[in-house]
Amino acid sequence: MQTIQFPPTATIYITSRCNNNCKHCFGPKNVPEMDFSKLKELFCLLRVRGVKAILLGGGEPLLRDDFGEILKELAIYNFKIFLDTSGDLFFRYRDLISEHVDVLGLPIDFPDSSYRNKDNLRTVLRVLSYYQQLGKRPIIRIGTVVTKDNFERLSDIGGLLRNYPVDIWKIYQFTPQNINAIKNVSILQISKEKFDNAVQNLENIFSGNFKVVISRREDRDRAYFFVASDGVVIMPYDNMSICRQIKIGNIFDNDILDKWEKCVLKGRYFSNAEATFNYK
Ligand code: SF4
Repeated sequence: MQTIQFPPTATIYITSRCNNNCKHCFGPKNVPEMDFSKLKELFCLLRVRGVKAILLGGGEPLLRDDFGEILKELAIYNFKIFLDTSGDLFFRYRDLISEHVDVLGLPIDFPDSSYRNKDNLRTVLRVLSYYQQLGKRPIIRIGTVVTKDNFERLSDIGGLLRNYPVDIWKIYQFTPQNINAIKNVSILQISKEKFDNAVQNLENIFSGNFKVVISRREDRDRAYFFVASDGVVIMPYDNMSICRQIKIGNIFDNDILDKWEKCVLKGRYFSNAEATFNYK
C-alpha cells in the first residue's frame, strides 16, 4: 500500500523558549516540548511520509541542550535543513551547523542595533565574517521585520549586507500575532501603503548583491506546515485585521494530512517553501 505523502517542507518549532524578548516577536510562549526520543519518532515519520526539507525554528532552537543531537539525527535522514536562529549561541555549535545546515537564517533589524539584545548585531556580523573566510558555507538568509522603528532604514541595512556573504534578504511585513507583537501593535505597525513604499526599490538596488524576497502579511495566511514544539500542527490565519494560529491536530494523528489540506492555500504554501530553499 502506498503511503500518503505529507507536503515536502515542514517547519518545526523545537522550542518556544528564547533568551530574548523582542517587542515585535510573534512566536508563542510556554509551549511544552517534545523530548529527543519523540523528536526522533517525528523525524522518522516525516521522512517516511515524504518530507524532504525541515525548517528548524523557535523560540531559539539553539537553547535546546540536545540541539547537536537533533542536527545529527536530521542528517541521518538526509533532510535539507534550514535553521532560523538569532545567532546569539551560534559559536557554541559552529562546526555542527557548518557541517549539516543548508540554509542559515539570521536576523538584522537595524544597521547599527538590534531588537534582540545589545550584542546581537555584533554577533550576527561575526557569524557573517566567519563565513566570509570559508569556501564552504550554508546559504545565508538575513531576515528583517519592518516596523515603525526601521522602515526608513532599510536601504542602510541593505548597504551593510553588501559587505558580507549574504544570499537572500527576506523582508517581512510586521505581523500582529501572539503576545509581544499584539501588545506593541500600535507602536510598531505601519500601513500596507507605507510598507509597500519602503520596500519598492530594494530589489532594484540590491539584486546584484543578493536575492531580495518581500514577505507580505497575506503571504503567511494559511501558507505553512507548522509543527509546534508540543507536536501540535498549527496554521496561521490572517484576515488582515486579526492574525491567529489555529491548532488543527497533532502531527501523529492518522488524519492530520486531511485536516491540513482542508485549511491550507496550496499555491501560497508552495511559493513560501520555494522561497525558503531556492536562493537563485
Ligand atoms: S523574535 Fe526571535 S529572538 Fe526575538 S523573542 Fe521572538 S523568538 Fe526570540
